[in-house]
Amino acid sequence: MTTLQNGHQKKPLDIIIVGGGLVGSLEALLLAKRGHRVRLYEYREDIRRTPHVRGRSINLALSVRGRKALQSVGLEQHMIREHGIPMVGRYIHKFDGSTYVIPYDARTNQCIYSVGRNYLNSLLLKESEKYGNVEKYFNHKLINADLHKGSLTFLKTQNKETVEVNADLIIGADGAYSAVRKAMMKQPLFDYSQKYIEHGYMELCIPPGEDGEFQMPSKYLHIWPRGNFMLIALPNQDRTWTVTLFMPFAKFNEIDTEEKVLAFFGKYFADAIPLIGKKKLLEDFFAASALPLVSVKCRPYNVIDKTLLIGDAAHAVVPFYGQGMNSGFEDCTILDELFQKHNDDIAKILSEYSDTRWKDVFAISDLAMYNYIEMRDLVTRPSYLFRKSIDDF
Ligand code: FAD
Repeated sequence: MTTLQNGHQKKPLDIIIVGGGLVGSLEALLLAKRGHRVRLYEYREDIRRTPHVRGRSINLALSVRGRKALQSVGLEQHMIREHGIPMVGRYIHKFDGSTYVIPYDARTNQCIYSVGRNYLNSLLLKESEKYGNVEKYFNHKLINADLHKGSLTFLKTQNKETVEVNADLIIGADGAYSAVRKAMMKQPLFDYSQKYIEHGYMELCIPPGEDGEFQMPSKYLHIWPRGNFMLIALPNQDRTWTVTLFMPFAKFNEIDTEEKVLAFFGKYFADAIPLIGKKKLLEDFFAASALPLVSVKCRPYNVIDKTLLIGDAAHAVVPFYGQGMNSGFEDCTILDELFQKHNDDIAKILSEYSDTRWKDVFAISDLAMYNYIEMRDLVTRPSYLFRKSIDDF
């Protein structure tokens, strides 16, 4: 018997979380705090021992939804004060090289924070070690699931053995290409849709200046809006900038020689070339190809009282609203509130979560899709022109 956070004496639940990314590791922490037994299974190696994995952005904008969730595990202030760089507005780089600022909140100075993905993920994993009731299994890939029975099969990627495990509750936090969701797709009445946008993204880098400092004003999210494509940059703790080029794949494919890269950047992002450096631009541009962006909607998020999807597994969104991680963290907050409200009664928790959560999540997904047009195009136009463009969209 364990004394739960709500003061009740209860047998702890046995919970498996699939996926130790940002959302899975936060959820593990919240459930551990409540006294439950948590087993976290992650496909990759422990992120604390590996360099950045390509296919996930290097840094992210943390906003109020995410901050609230971090606050509930006592990490918000640490993240924003010591490891977050405030971004108080958009810093627009015009075609002619001139710049201007659009504050996010000129009245009360609210801002968003640029945070490092690896740092935050590692911090959440490390924090869970304070609790004796969390077990972590890295290099374990989910390959099969019986979601009604709560039984899962993992492949140990290092020695190719398989292991079968059971739990009272399975939480699928295994990202946009979720294996748990794939198993759920066999359920009757499970709605699912996905959309790949025609644009991909590529991450480049602006190094620190010769003085070791940021080469651009750091307290902003920098944007080079160019109509059908854009460049953005978010600051990092080490005084570098992660620069992301969002552009149609067709356009990426056209730019296939060094001359074409320099001509393209020279025409559209001339002020970024000296910041990135010609040599580094060419190296990074050809180091890897552009990556796709997918938007996923599905519901319900649960299978009876045995399985639940959260984070990107439930709702991958395009990144233009900076809300993927933030809304995944909000999933954890809401779930935690429901554990409290329903005294750990999984059936009630999962059913209420699934019935209510989808509306906000679908709205965020649509806003994210719309905000791409806003960031790459509308942001440069006077507001009276917005109406027409939104109608076009
Ligand atoms: P993930 O981070 O994808 O983690 C899923 C985990 O599950 C991974 O560790 C994976 O290895 C593991 N896994 C997968 N399959 C299996 C399996 N079969 N078995 C076991 N484990 C498995 N969001 C923001 O809020 N703000 C931003 O500024 C922002 N910027 C972004 C920029 C870009 C370019 C992109 C692509 C995304 C951005 N996002 C942003 C979205 C954000 O990255 C995601 O919403 C967030 O990573 C979701 O976290 P997650 O834990 O649900 O999924």
